[in-house]
Amino acid sequence: MSVNADSTEPLWMPRVAVVGAGISGLICARRLQEQGFQVTVFEKSRSSSGRAATRRVDLSLSFDHGAQYFTVRDPLFSQFVEAWVERGIVAVWTGRIVDIDGRTARPKTDQPVRYVGVPGMTAMARHLAASAAVQFETRITRLDRGENDWTLTDSAERTHGPFDHVVMSLPAPQTADLIPGHILEDVVRAVPMTPCWAVLMGFERRIELAWDGAFVQNSPLAWLARNSSKPGRDKSVDCWVLHASPTWSAAHQEDEPQLVQETLQAEFAQLTGSRLPPSIHFAAHRWLFSATPLSLDQQALFDPQSGLVVCGDWLASGRVEGAFRSGVAAADCLIGQIVRDSR
Ligand SMILES: Cc1cc2nc3c(=O)[nH]c(=O)nc-3n(C[C@H](O)[C@H](O)[C@H](O)COP(=O)(O)OP(=O)(O)OC[C@H]3O[C@@H](n4cnc5c(N)ncnc54)[C@H](O)[C@@H]3O)c2cc1C
Repeated sequence: MSVNADSTEPLWMPRVAVVGAGISGLICARRLQEQGFQVTVFEKSRSSSGRAATRRVDLSLSFDHGAQYFTVRDPLFSQFVEAWVERGIVAVWTGRIVDIDGRTARPKTDQPVRYVGVPGMTAMARHLAASAAVQFETRITRLDRGENDWTLTDSAERTHGPFDHVVMSLPAPQTADLIPGHILEDVVRAVPMTPCWAVLMGFERRIELAWDGAFVQNSPLAWLARNSSKPGRDKSVDCWVLHASPTWSAAHQEDEPQLVQETLQAEFAQLTGSRLPPSIHFAAHRWLFSATPLSLDQQALFDPQSGLVVCGDWLASGRVEGAFRSGVAAADCLIGQIVRDSR
């Protein structure tokens, strides 16, 4: 349905700035565009996808160092995922997943269907970004509300606008810093987000383990995954991603990446009882705002007075599916307002 479907005259459609080209910002932009809104997305990085990230070192070395996989419960998300599966943008990961406590690995009892982007976790965002007007390498540093509209300023002091609405789709602390004094600032600033250290390892020979992914208890490590076991990845190099636990990551937040990599790699070798084969690639990546321990489930925040909308995974139980749901909710706030104003 289009918001102006019942009107005989074309409606003037608002100009919307979406800050952030992760899953939440991009699905919001797409939904608004489908309704005729004039949408511009601003992204600080060279490419889209945010924390659903893939680092491609070369043709055979790639690592999903943020989101590992996603699950699906929401009916609308399910429709999207089905379409993405048909187009080869995502596929089911049938990797063998275990729980590890101490040195015992037990197959996980609950085994939801786990989806991954193909050939990397960035595939979904890349697909969504292809039909959006995204200005990459544009880090928004200031939002100014005039009498009726917004102007955005970036880190190169370029201004963008005017816009009738702004949708913020960043981790909560980054959003709070950009809306000082706004009525929504306090609620956003109250949301803590935990860091996560990720270690990326490529080996020239396969490590012989009877599983592909592991949830780990009572260890500095929380998650281990054989990235090359996911569909559509090159299998010639054994690529692994390790995630440290939130507690360990917070305690070691300021450590040097090399120290983190060596410490977690040693932990991995000890946990798995493996002698690691010669390495081709090692790196550590710190996510400062990985996830929130809170369960907000508000989906999106909207201040109709100023036209500011806030979304992001942290408003909808986290994770890729939460980002999707929150982005949809953000778009629906603005679509709902247009429908109300046109009555
Ligand atoms: C280590 C890790 C493991 C995870 N594992 C899983 C998992 O297994 N399954 C799962 O479902 N989810 C997982 N997640 C969570 C999942 O990645 C997120 O829920 C989802 O990607 C969040 O999407 P988003 O659009 O809300 O935010 P983001 O992906 O953070 O997008 C925000 C975007 O805004 C951009 N940006 C930031 N500041 C500015 C600025 N000032 N100006 C312009 N652009 C800006 C960023 O570059 C980014 O592209 C994991 C996340 C991490 C970090």
